[in-house]
Amino acid sequence: MSEGLVTVSYIGSTILFILSLGGLSHPETARRGNFYGILGMSIAILATVLGPKVTSYVPIIIAMLIGSAVGIYAAIKVKMTEMPELVALMHSLVGLAAVLVGYANFIDPTAAFTGVEKTIHEVEIYLGILIGAVTFSGSVIAFGKLSGKIDGKPVLLPARHWINLGLLILAIILGVGFINAQSTAGGFVPLLLMTAIALAFGVHMVMAIGGADMPVVVSMLNSYSGWAASATGFMLSNDLLIVTGALVGSSGAILSYIMCRAMNRHFLSVIAGGFGTGTGVTPAGGAGAEGEVQPITPEETAELLRNASRVILVPGYGMAVAQAQHTVYEITKLLREKGVDVRFAIHPVAGRMPGHMNVLLAEAKVPYDIVLEMDEINEDFPETDVAMVIGANDIVNPAAQEDPNSPIAGMPVLEVWKAKTSIVMKRSMASGYAGVDNPLFYKENNRMLFGDAKKTLDEVLKYLQG
Ligand code: NDP
Repeated sequence: MSEGLVTVSYIGSTILFILSLGGLSHPETARRGNFYGILGMSIAILATVLGPKVTSYVPIIIAMLIGSAVGIYAAIKVKMTEMPELVALMHSLVGLAAVLVGYANFIDPTAAFTGVEKTIHEVEIYLGILIGAVTFSGSVIAFGKLSGKIDGKPVLLPARHWINLGLLILAIILGVGFINAQSTAGGFVPLLLMTAIALAFGVHMVMAIGGADMPVVVSMLNSYSGWAASATGFMLSNDLLIVTGALVGSSGAILSYIMCRAMNRHFLSVIAGGFGTGTGVTPAGGAGAEGEVQPITPEETAELLRNASRVILVPGYGMAVAQAQHTVYEITKLLREKGVDVRFAIHPVAGRMPGHMNVLLAEAKVPYDIVLEMDEINEDFPETDVAMVIGANDIVNPAAQEDPNSPIAGMPVLEVWKAKTSIVMKRSMASGYAGVDNPLFYKENNRMLFGDAKKTLDEVLKYLQG
């Protein structure tokens, strides 16, 4: 394939990637967006492999076979609830690839840059390895935290902001040393030291993040992985990689910004680490998290729902764990047939990845027009008869509003307690991802429906049908 044809294919792929992002911004067009993405990536891979820069096919074919086998295995094996961990792991691989490409470029004996070109190339290598290493170690820690292999509690070193600043200054000084180095061997020392610093920074940054702020970090690492890919594109002089990386980097940055707004956090305060941790002086319960809870049976729940005019369903991570979305929709259909107004309230950080609940509800074929974002529906709770919380916890925790010392203070939450009756469906009194107790459970108008969401809802459905 000639260089010209490769360029044309790359432009085609870029357009398809932009169309893909556009499609993915709404559930109704998401499938089409996904298709554009697959097509764009297939063209990109073919054009790269068949392009003039590839001189030997055997290693590429072997690598592609191994990569495809791992990808297909992961796609089949990984459960929906494990998707966030998988995504974090994939971000780490992008970071690792940027580091390896950076080192390969640095020791490439065929590279013949001189003067300004050489300096630019070295800056590309340095920045590529720096971003890649932060992305790699940060994503590995995020994977550990999301999968529960590492404790979700923030690890706060004393003077952590000064440590971060110190690491940054050190990385800049080493960068100057690297660019001014007279030989490859001379450049190796600052490059290796900087890699170690970047790896430490990634670990330190994500370890310091409190549970409820993880979504911001996940989307931020997504953004970093894009910039790492873009840096790799510069190192390899591959225009498509530069553009694609920039698309991922900027869309991830926009997502992080949206997440921050949803969590009422400042972007910089999240990435500086240690937020979402509160003052640490409030007992785990937070304000008002004590008293008696009032349990309710599936039969009584069915009765309450049947007699309601307005119902709001609030799904959370537990619905994903229980895979209860299909039963939820069966109940919704039945109630709507009986003339009950049923809608869904989606919190921006519900579940374990952006859009998690929307994906599950779309899979169960819940119509999009009854699925509303937090801002669109939060004011409607006072006029609601029953607010039913399905395996959610942090996103309906009134401590965010009532207790200024709570680790989640200031985070906007769905105000289900303002409904005439709220029902919380979960298996125990355990806290949610942020590890904060929930005073909602003890409110006078709240009932607890204990049990696995799927099994309990199956019973509620049975009583509604009966
Ligand atoms: P939470 O993790 O706060 O609560 C989920 C609740 O579901 C738990 O308290 C659990 O209680 C219950 N549960 C678990 N399994 C079942 C089951 N089988 N049946 C019934 N209930 C079950 O989830 P939310 O969705 O309310 O909030 C999301 C949290 O995750 C936020 O803190 C957010 O910041 C964080 N997060 C979000 C990310 C995102 O991108 N959306 C990414 C990373 C973190 P019990 O054990 O008693 O059943």
